[in-house]
Amino acid sequence: MERHERQHSRLNGQENPVTLADMIYERLSIFCWCNSCGYNSTIDPVSLTKILDPLFPVPELGKRMRCSKCQARDIATRPAWPNHGGGQIARHS
Ligand SMILES: [Zn+2]
Repeated sequence: MERHERQHSRLNGQENPVTLADMIYERLSIFCWCNSCGYNSTIDPVSLTKILDPLFPVPELGKRMRCSKCQARDIATRPAWPNHGGGQIARHS
């Protein structure tokens, strides 16, 4: 069995990361996960744009955060895709 393990450090080098503005446009929350204790929560991106640039990349948010439970600075952030079994959401009003 082979495992593919990718280094996380340089992942955002070339690709376009999802930004806070993208999240607001898609009406998604930001899912935060503590790699240390497993604590997780979702954040409203609109409130984050009051303190951060709207073009701030979502994957970078974790580096600015600290777990409110165990105080670890090992937070993963990603779009909180809704899990309603539908795969994609393509609804634009
Ligand atoms: Zn934690």
